[in-house]
Amino acid sequence: MIRIADVTALSVPRNCVDELHTHLRKVGRDGHEGLGLWVGRQAGHHFQVFKTLIPAQRHIRTGDGVCVVTGPEELHRINVWLYTEKLALIAQIHSHPGQAYHSSTDDEYAIATTVGCLSLVVPNFARAPFDLGNIASYRLDGRGVWRALTAGEAARMISIED
Ligand SMILES: [Zn+2]
Repeated sequence: MIRIADVTALSVPRNCVDELHTHLRKVGRDGHEGLGLWVGRQAGHHFQVFKTLIPAQRHIRTGDGVCVVTGPEELHRINVWLYTEKLALIAQIHSHPGQAYHSSTDDEYAIATTVGCLSLVVPNFARAPFDLGNIASYRLDGRGVWRALTAGEAARMISIED
């Protein structure tokens, strides 16, 4: 049984990065946080991303400010689709108006709930080009805690394929 927690390397095609980043930047221009998912297949310690999913999303106001959430029906639809396509969710990526960090709201509304999944937070409504060096990266550990990865750890784990 291979588990997402065993993944040590993630390959993401450039077009999947671009599709995600374009969405984050577009909704950011309207003052909204955006959300995308990377899905693909695992082989041993390697995970190959095949596709960026942009789930139906709505924007709510919380104590922390703004937040993007996806409803239970949409999550169910995505999970059924992943199952029939034999694909797995490896990462959720969302943008913030300013600083990139995992807020308590992000913990509470996390879509990726499998141990080993990644959560990336893109600062400044994705106005700058996608760069793992200025994105906050987290990985869900076995105790259900989103543990911060250093920029170096994220860069060693995630390779963007041109
Ligand atoms: Zn957030």
